[in-house]
Amino acid sequence: MIFQRPEILRPPSEHASYYLPLTSGCSNNSCTFCAYSFTNLGVRDLQDVKDEIDAMSLYMNTRMGLPGQPDIVYAILRRWDGRRVFLQDGDALVFPYPKLVESLQYLNGKFPGLERIASYATPQDVLRRSVDELKALKELKLGILYMGVESGDDVVLQRIIKGATHAEMVEAAAKVREAGILLSMTVILGLGGVQGSQQHAMETARILTEMDPDYAGALTLTLIPGTPLYQEWERGEFELITPFDSLKELRAMVENATFSDCFFSSMHASNYFAIRGSLPADRRKMLAQLNSILSKNDPALLRPEFLRGL
Ligand code: SF4
Repeated sequence: MIFQRPEILRPPSEHASYYLPLTSGCSNNSCTFCAYSFTNLGVRDLQDVKDEIDAMSLYMNTRMGLPGQPDIVYAILRRWDGRRVFLQDGDALVFPYPKLVESLQYLNGKFPGLERIASYATPQDVLRRSVDELKALKELKLGILYMGVESGDDVVLQRIIKGATHAEMVEAAAKVREAGILLSMTVILGLGGVQGSQQHAMETARILTEMDPDYAGALTLTLIPGTPLYQEWERGEFELITPFDSLKELRAMVENATFSDCFFSSMHASNYFAIRGSLPADRRKMLAQLNSILSKNDPALLRPEFLRGL
């Protein structure tokens, strides 16, 4: 498990955070659509993590650098406001628990004014931890976990080798909520292909309801060359849905998922059309926007392909 500092991939809402790597890659590097499916998990040495936290602290207090730290550390620090930290990488919650606790304690010791620490987590990472362990992390300011759920349809989850079932993801969400940690989840429009589109949309609406996250984001499937799903598509074994069909899936999710209070958006650059709002409060407005664009059926109203991104 060799550690190499990862590229910065983070949720849009973590744009102002300091990006502190604990791992590289993802422990569940099997999902057939994902760029992480090329990577192996790397686990960082605890002393390295502490050395970087020391460098962060020295710089924020004195604007001086420590030898041995890469330029990226200071590039991030120059624009950091000292409030939030995002733990890299694809599922930093997999970092061995005692080391994770020690890292967060060290970080809190150096930055007592820190407001929130965030991380990506797989459902498996969460299920591995007890609620008390998650609560202990919450005490150490782990305030939000970002989880890629992708689909609520077990057929899709199995086909993309997600490594977790619908039921397991619902169980993981319940643990996160019980620990008092915010949950942000993402789902992927189009992941069921043409054949599985309707079932993917309805089962995803169901898992959104059952997981009842604080934040939910819809992305639209973008095939990455070299991934197993891309190869399936090249062989004709997977058929992409149309942009307007992706909006029909989105409409089915907004219409059928019920939430306590969730900020739901399709603002991600992969989407053809952006909606955002609180559900259930803004459901009617969001459905009206989707119905309007679907009835016009005008491709000029969609984000052009060349502006879509991962
Ligand atoms: S768990 Fe997430 S980051 Fe890891 S391979 Fe699957 S989609 Fe990618």
